[in-house]
Formats: sequence, C-alpha cells, structure tokens
Amino acid sequence: MSFTLPDLPYSYDALEPHFDSQTMEIHHSRHHNLYITNLNNAIEGTNMENASIEEICKNHSENIAVRNNGGGHYNHSLFWNIISPNGGGDPHGKVAELINSTFNDFDSFKSKFSTAAMTRFGSGWAWLCQIDNHLEICSTANQDNPLMPGICNDKSNPIIGIDVWEHAYYLKYQNKRAEYIDAFFNVVDWNKVNERIS
Ligand code: MN
Repeated sequence: MSFTLPDLPYSYDALEPHFDSQTMEIHHSRHHNLYITNLNNAIEGTNMENASIEEICKNHSENIAVRNNGGGHYNHSLFWNIISPNGGGDPHGKVAELINSTFNDFDSFKSKFSTAAMTRFGSGWAWLCQIDNHLEICSTANQDNPLMPGICNDKSNPIIGIDVWEHAYYLKYQNKRAEYIDAFFNVVDWNKVNERIS
C-alpha cells in the first residue's frame, strides 16, 4: 500500500482573495505531492507500508526521511481540510466553548495563536491542540507535528494547524507573514475544526 495525494475538497481558486489560486495549486500539486512521493520511497519494503499516517507520525519519527515526509503528508492533509470557502467568522460549537474556557475569549486566543505562528523561526507550523477538556497552542519546526513524541504534549490532538513555511504565502504576501496569518482566519472552517474534537 502506498499513500496518494488527496484531492482538495474545493477548487484551487476557491479561497481567493485570502489564499491565491497559484499558491494553492503549487502547494498542493507540487509540495504536498513531493512529500508523498518521498514518504512512499522511505517506507517501501518496511513494516510501515501498512501503517496509517497517524501511526507513522507517532511511532516512526526517529527515521528522518519518514519524519519529514510523513509529517509533510499528515500536516498538509489536515491543513486542506480545516480551511474552506465557508470558513472565517467567529468560532461556534464545542471549539468555541473550549476557546472561551481555555483563553477567556476568541480575541485572546487569536492573539496567542498568531504570536505562535509569527515567532516560529524559519519553516514550521503552529498548532491548536485539544488535550482532554482544554486546548493548548504550540509550534513545531520543519514538518514536525504534535503526534510525534516529545514535541508538544504526547496527548495532543491537533485540531488546527497553520503552515508557516514561506511556500505557503510568499507569492501573495512576500515577507508579510502576519498578513497571511490574518488571512488564515478568513478561511478556517470552524465546522471542520469541530469535527476533529474527540
Ligand atoms: Mn506547506
């Protein structure tokens, strides 16, 4: 069994003007696809061939090619699925309750999350994770993610991830990562985030 590039649940131009079509196409069809090709090469002939991507991130991150490319596949799959043309606005449902009980209000959460995304030096991700009945913000380097042991909290369930590699925003926003992070909040789909809460 090998991994394949999942289709986006919307067209490349669906998130305009927040995320531009050219960035979406290159990011999905080239960057994400290359992580999958390299992951498949790294697991070929090993006992990882029948593992899920979650199991690979949790149990095999000591292998650097598996870590980088397995993380790349998991992270981008999550990212595409928690953004949509129906996104933006204030959170609702379970995630809104957890944001309010953990951070007091949405603006405080947004500020802390944006700071985590802004201060991740170089390439990486910022995350909102559920741990039982509260939330935690963390950030990771490269394609690491909270499923990997010793990264955030080993019980972390990632419910939001934002890609802060320059390839995610440079064509439209150049060096202005803060504007890209603001734009992310116009496409994050709270229904999809709620579906990830366990
Ligand atoms: Mn990316």
